[in-house]
Amino acid sequence: LPDPDVAALTAEDVEGLLPRPGAESDKYRRGVIGIAAGSDRYTGAAVLSVGGALRAGAGMVRYAGTAPPVQQVRARWPEAVVTELDHPSIAGVGRVQAWVAGPGLGTGDWAHELVAGVLATDVPVLLDADALTIVSRDRGLLRRAAPVLITPHAGELSRLIGVPGDRVEASRLEHARRAAAELGVTVLLKGSTTLIAEDERPVRVNLTGSSWLATGGTGDVLSGVGGALLAAGLTPYDAGSCAAFLHGLAGRIASDGAPLAAADVADAVPSAIRSLRGES
Ligand code: AMP
Ligand code: MG
Repeated sequence: LPDPDVAALTAEDVEGLLPRPGAESDKYRRGVIGIAAGSDRYTGAAVLSVGGALRAGAGMVRYAGTAPPVQQVRARWPEAVVTELDHPSIAGVGRVQAWVAGPGLGTGDWAHELVAGVLATDVPVLLDADALTIVSRDRGLLRRAAPVLITPHAGELSRLIGVPGDRVEASRLEHARRAAAELGVTVLLKGSTTLIAEDERPVRVNLTGSSWLATGGTGDVLSGVGGALLAAGLTPYDAGSCAAFLHGLAGRIASDGAPLAAADVADAVPSAIRSLRGES
C-alpha cells in the first residue's frame, strides 16, 4: 500500500537538488568540507572519504588527521589541503562550511575529543562510523544549534537508540523515524535500500544501490559525498538523499554486475552525476 509519508527518490529529484557551478562560482562558494577521519590503523577510511567528497564536486577538501593517514591522503589526493594533527583539535584547520567526522577515526579519548571539537563548531556536521559509537556513549554531544546528519547502518543505529539490531532490521522505517525524532538529527539509514528520515518530513527511500556495494570502505565514500553536498549548502535531508542516490548509482556503474572496490565507487560518482541528465 502506498504510504504518503514515504517517497521513493527519483533521478529528477536529485537532478533538481544537485548544485551545478556557474560563471559566478569559485571554490569557496562551491563548498569547503572539513574531514576528520582515519587513524594510524585505518588510513584508508580517510583516503576514501576525501575521494568521495572530491568526486562529488567539493570546492575544497580540508583533511585533518594523524601522520599516517595524512601521508596516505597526500599521496592519493594532492587536491586536498591537509593538516597533520599532533593533538585532537581542529583549531588550525581553517574555515569550512561543513564537517564529516568518524570513518576509521577510532573510539578512544583522542577521537572523542576530536569529534567533540567538530560538534562544537557552528556548521552542519555529518557523523559516521566511529563518531556514531562516540555519540552513542555521550549523547550530550548532539546538543548543538547547527544540523547533524548521521549515516549509520542498522548496527550503528541500534547502539544509538538502544534497540537490539534484529529489531532495527525487522522494522527499519520505524526505527529510522524514531531515531530522527529522539535524537533531533537527520538519519540516513544504510542497507540494501537506504532511508533518509527527518522529523515531520516523508521518509525518502533510495533504491539505486547494488549488492556489490556490500564491501569494506563504501560507507566511507558515502560520508565524503554527503559532506560535499552539505558544504555546498544542501540541507541534511537533501544532502543525504542526493548522496544515497548518487552513491548507489556510482556503485552500479562501478560494478556493472561484477565486484567493485570502494575506491571505484568514488571514481564513478562523476559518471553517476553525468547520467542524471540522461535519466531525468
Ligand atoms: P557501511 O555499512 O558503512 O560499510 O556502508 C556500506 C554501504 O554499502 C552503504 O552505502 C550501504 O547502503 C551499501 N550496501 C551495503 N549492502 C548493500 C546491499 N546488499 N545492497 C545495496 N547496497 C548495500
Ligand atoms: Mg561504515
